[in-house]
Amino acid sequence: MANTKYVFVTGGVSSSLGKGIIAASLAKLLQARGYRVTIQKLDPYINVDPGTLNPYEHGECYVTDDGAETDLDLGHYERFLNTPTSQANNVTTGRIYQSVIEKERRGEFLGKTVQVVPHITNEIKERIQILGKSGNYDIVITEIGGTVGDIESLPYIEAVRQLKWELGDNNALVIHLTLIPYLSAAGELKTKPTQHSVKTLMESGIKADILVCRTEHKLSDDLRRKLALFCNVKQEAVIESIDASTIYDVPNLMLEEGLDTVVLTQLVLRDDNTPDLENWNNFLKRHKNPKYEITVGLIGKYVELQDSYKSILEAFIHAGAENEVKVNVVSIHSEFIDDETIEKKIAHLDGILVAPGFGERGIEGKIKAVRFARENKLPFFGICLGMQMAVIEYSRNVLGLKGACSVEVDENTLDPVIDIMEEQKSITDMGGTMRLGAWDCELIGESKVFEAYGESLISERHRHRYEYNNKYKDQLEAAGLRTTGINPKTGLVEIIEIPDHPWFVGVQYHPEYKSTVANPHPLFIAFVKAAVAYSKRSKSAKVSQG
Ligand code: GLN
Repeated sequence: MANTKYVFVTGGVSSSLGKGIIAASLAKLLQARGYRVTIQKLDPYINVDPGTLNPYEHGECYVTDDGAETDLDLGHYERFLNTPTSQANNVTTGRIYQSVIEKERRGEFLGKTVQVVPHITNEIKERIQILGKSGNYDIVITEIGGTVGDIESLPYIEAVRQLKWELGDNNALVIHLTLIPYLSAAGELKTKPTQHSVKTLMESGIKADILVCRTEHKLSDDLRRKLALFCNVKQEAVIESIDASTIYDVPNLMLEEGLDTVVLTQLVLRDDNTPDLENWNNFLKRHKNPKYEITVGLIGKYVELQDSYKSILEAFIHAGAENEVKVNVVSIHSEFIDDETIEKKIAHLDGILVAPGFGERGIEGKIKAVRFARENKLPFFGICLGMQMAVIEYSRNVLGLKGACSVEVDENTLDPVIDIMEEQKSITDMGGTMRLGAWDCELIGESKVFEAYGESLISERHRHRYEYNNKYKDQLEAAGLRTTGINPKTGLVEIIEIPDHPWFVGVQYHPEYKSTVANPHPLFIAFVKAAVAYSKRSKSAKVSQG
């Protein structure tokens, strides 16, 4: 197809309506009809990327193959579409300004006053079109973060207005996602906030083409007609988005509402081919009809906000469906794990995952949890910091290096079994300077990980500054903590395992970022299997004791 088509998704009335899920669901439907689609997120904050944000602010920081630290919505895009995203898929105001200011310093605007319009808006338009101009996509969906009317969003809205005008109505459209609140006292759904938000958009010169209405109750025909009339859209362009029990239902709900058809019609694209959602629906069937149930503990320190561990929770959903098992994930705050509480918090679980993280808060609780899992043969999965905690635990309690620690936590530790990476030592900037993105890892010998992956050269995504200290490798190996994965170029240890434990695996990388509906991650699948086996063993032990 010659020219790429653009779909913009804006949000109104309230934040957290799920623009990312709507964008991903639409993309899924278009992809299922054979179109090449990608999704981009524009974030109106001034951080150059979300890498420097605490997970409590916007949830998890998602990492792409090319090492971009991005908004968690990119995780949804990859999980739905099963195609990788990149730096170009997430742009913040900080990055836009950084690049315009760099150009100004280089003299690219010599003689001109650099202004929000046209310089910032031009930069935004360029960033939107980079993906389209790559020739890799028929349709680019761009999600504008924030809510219409926010001061921060104005340059983005203006850029969308200009692009829509330049590209023409057949090549670009705007979907506005709003909320239709239900007033229980009146027993009524209310359209007024939506009318106002569409008007706000109009004040910036943009007419919404499609309304996607988040609602707890079904929209009647009357209400749809009213919305269409007062918001100036076709009636078939009023799309109901009713609360769903799982985000993975949303593509089908959007299909029933005809969102993809309305989009294709306006963009003058073929819509007579039916979307092929067979694999997607097979996944849903397995997800909704589990044959067994397990409970695993997610041990971390950002547990108050579920979004902090979004990709891990989703990876459990994918792996659960693959195994036809319902995986209940209970969040356990590592700060509250101590000798008195540990038994009560962990003993009843079928496995634990010790989460990634930064800084010293909650570290000792994680180490205690690892010890419990190791000693009680409870399936253990350590990711990034979780893997580092497993190395510390083994060093302290098996090797007898009582003061073993990570340099991140104790700079003066006598036994820095987790040390700062050589190339990190001279770095002082915090943003974008970790070991990031996809790196190869070679699996060594027979191991649980080789069993899971079924191949010996893998590539996984990273986000860390500290590493397993190879000076302790011989001792740790001799004491039974095997290295089963190594970066072939740098010799950095990527994976550790305890061979005489039913399933004890720690990985320095983040497998959760690569788990998708179409490709559940092999390590999550294997961990869930191990937890099922553990659960069955402990149940039959109880029966025989009883
Ligand atoms: N804080 C650790 C490091 O920087 C682990 C990072 C993580 O868990 N993502 O190495």
